[in-house]
Amino acid sequence: MKKTSYHFNRSTLVYEEVRYSIGQKILAGLKHLSIGIGIALVLFAFAMYTMDSPYEQHLRKENKLLLAQYDVLSQRIDEYQNVLNELQERDDQLYRATFNADPIPASVRRQGFGGVNRYEYLLDISHSELVISTSRKLDAIRKAMYAQSNSYDELIELIKLKEERMSNMPTIRPLSGKDMKGISSGFGMRIHPIFGDLRMHTGIDLNANAGSPIYATGNGTVESAGWEGGYGNCIVIDHGFEFKSLYGHCKEILVKPGTKVKRGQKIGTVGMTGVASGNHVHYEVRVRGRHDNPAKYFFMDLSPEEYNEMLYIAEHR
Ligand SMILES: [Zn+2]
Repeated sequence: MKKTSYHFNRSTLVYEEVRYSIGQKILAGLKHLSIGIGIALVLFAFAMYTMDSPYEQHLRKENKLLLAQYDVLSQRIDEYQNVLNELQERDDQLYRATFNADPIPASVRRQGFGGVNRYEYLLDISHSELVISTSRKLDAIRKAMYAQSNSYDELIELIKLKEERMSNMPTIRPLSGKDMKGISSGFGMRIHPIFGDLRMHTGIDLNANAGSPIYATGNGTVESAGWEGGYGNCIVIDHGFEFKSLYGHCKEILVKPGTKVKRGQKIGTVGMTGVASGNHVHYEVRVRGRHDNPAKYFFMDLSPEEYNEMLYIAEHR
């Protein structure tokens, strides 16, 4: 239905039909349209500010999830740090202490990178505090783990050295128990059986029948093997770690200088070559060039009672 507008003419006092031109009609149409678009824009902007798009909702959810995961990660890192702390404590107080190694200084375990802010590049991102503190913790753990693994390497070397030292030290008797007929002379000052004067006896004399085997008392290398004045046929073994052992008055010598010997290996036989009043092995232990009582080292093949008895005899005869 066509809409008709009327206009009241004051001079003629008559209602007259108003006729719009096409241009006027288009203008009116455009005016309505622009008001409509304006209202739509305002509503849209309002919605934009107050309501999330599905994509935004998704992002928000994802963000929450990531933060939660970061939290879990952070807790895990703390747990690892605690485990590491325990390892460090055990290392310093038990393992390193066992091998007389100094504890690792805290400054080495927690070495810093000094001065420069390594995390500067992280400052711009969102939740930078969380990310930086996590990175910092991870770095600290990495450094501490590095120090810890170095410490274990060092301990392995110490253990090897200790093992080597234990197998090299002259810790058994040079004669087997069944061949040994007792100690005829102990370590220390004594009246010399042949010269009759008071002399230092630098070893112990272990009696056995002629030809009884003499054994190396620890791993080492034969330093000398041959005639040596009053010692007669004599063998000296260098055990390293500043230990040497000497076997005098041998009947036979079965090794040469430079021969590598193992503890318990037969190196000669009992005799009475050199200055000796009977068949025996004169056995010495030298530590850092000084004579020590060899009986002190016989702890490997003797029970504690036997060891004490041996030590007593070695010191009192
Ligand atoms: Zn002697």
